[in-house]
Amino acid sequence: MEEENKYCEHLNTKRFKTTKTKVCEECVKTGGKWIHLRLCQTCGVVLCCNSSQNQHAQKHFEATGHPVVTSILPKPWSKFAWCYIDKLKRSLV
Ligand SMILES: [Zn+2]
Ligand SMILES: [Zn+2]
Ligand SMILES: [Zn+2]
Repeated sequence: MEEENKYCEHLNTKRFKTTKTKVCEECVKTGGKWIHLRLCQTCGVVLCCNSSQNQHAQKHFEATGHPVVTSILPKPWSKFAWCYIDKLKRSLV
């Protein structure tokens, strides 16, 4: 099996964007609450995850087709990238 460490083309990159933003940019506008945050690797917007009420990252993907987000968490060992198109997760630890 050669499946190990194989990612989709979207996740197969060496560099991932980072951000200092610590809020969901859409929830801030509407007063919504988020649980976890995701950073869009295409345009750099920070939005909330699918466990959050408004699922802005999911909606952003549906609206724009930007395929990859990364988690923004204080714990580096929880860091991952997610591809919405292929539904694949890549650990970035
Ligand atoms: Zn992909
Ligand atoms: Zn949000
Ligand atoms: Zn985007």
